Amino acid sequence: MTFKAEYIWIDGAEPTAKLRSKTKILADGAALPLWGFDGSSTNQAQGHASDLVLSPVFSCPDPLRGGDDILVLCEVLNIDMTPHPSNTRAELRPQAERFDAQEPVFGIEQEYTFFEGERPLGFPAGGFPAAQGGYYCGVGADEIFGREIVEKHLDHCLAAGLGISGINAEVMPGQWEFQVGPLSPLEVSDQLWIARWLLYRTAEDFGVSATLDPKPVKGDWNGAGAHTNFSTRAMREGYDAIVTACESLGEGSKPMDHVKNYGAGIDDRLTGLHETAPWNEYSYGVSDRGASVRIPWQVAQEKKGYIEDRRPNANVDPYVVTRLIVETCCTALEK
Ligand code: ADP
Ligand code: MN
Ligand code: MN
Ligand code: MN
Ligand code: MN
Repeated sequence: MTFKAEYIWIDGAEPTAKLRSKTKILADGAALPLWGFDGSSTNQAQGHASDLVLSPVFSCPDPLRGGDDILVLCEVLNIDMTPHPSNTRAELRPQAERFDAQEPVFGIEQEYTFFEGERPLGFPAGGFPAAQGGYYCGVGADEIFGREIVEKHLDHCLAAGLGISGINAEVMPGQWEFQVGPLSPLEVSDQLWIARWLLYRTAEDFGVSATLDPKPVKGDWNGAGAHTNFSTRAMREGYDAIVTACESLGEGSKPMDHVKNYGAGIDDRLTGLHETAPWNEYSYGVSDRGASVRIPWQVAQEKKGYIEDRRPNANVDPYVVTRLIVETCCTALEK
């Protein structure tokens, strides 16, 4: 007998990479082999030397096909088995290893927006819905658009065994959020990419697309972020480490080093309005949703816990944001 393995990888699209996948039929009990693809069709190679390698790194049950079928997340390698330049996971691996003793964990809040054709789901053709205010965590057909897709996506993530920790409707109609974590840097990133693939795949069956566009509607409508919650063992045990982490993110060139790698179009979203801090000014504060980095009130009260970097865009690469935060904060905490 056979089973179906959906090989999933991250392409070379600019300025934001997209997911691709194709199906391999394997004999029952077979180990997951390396596979190849045409890199000239994914902005990852030239036509005259187009072969690239898919190297399986994470697999889980395929909740859409069911049975013994699986999803297989892959790293992209060159044919000499070195990491392809688009392979940001390969850059995270050694840094995650280096700081592993600090036990860093992340919870990422993935915001996204459903579209039906050219319009966000719930936006009337050619017009706008009532202004923001009632949609966030709302209920009822006048406020909620796409819940049947969101519920199905949640069930699929759970059936796949992903560490999804919640969902909520967002401030703009048709905009939603799910959270993955807390998990280690590689785990949260791998699982977030699979959860994104499941989101697109689930919505596809409803004739709806999902986008990670950080500012899908211009004007007085909230953008979409990927707030990145972070802690180390020392931060989970005491407040000095919380302050050290917040301070380290503000030192020298760090604010710009981070922000320019937090997703394409970040200056469109981090305007200082709509619960954001301006992209070019670093700040942190307790309960402050207008700061770059927020210390949740329970954390300030209990004097231990985690911090929330509110800057990453919805379209951020989790392999990049977790690597940067670990490099900056864990280096400072090491001292
Ligand atoms: P918000 O109030 O900002 O909307 P959410 O509840 O959406 O917060 O998301 C908070 C995230 O923080 C969740 O993914 C959760 O798993 C994660 N989290 C909780 N505790 C920790 C911790 N100690 N370290 C890192 N992440 C954590
Ligand atoms: Mn072919
Ligand atoms: Mn949230
Ligand atoms: Mn949110
Ligand atoms: Mn948040």
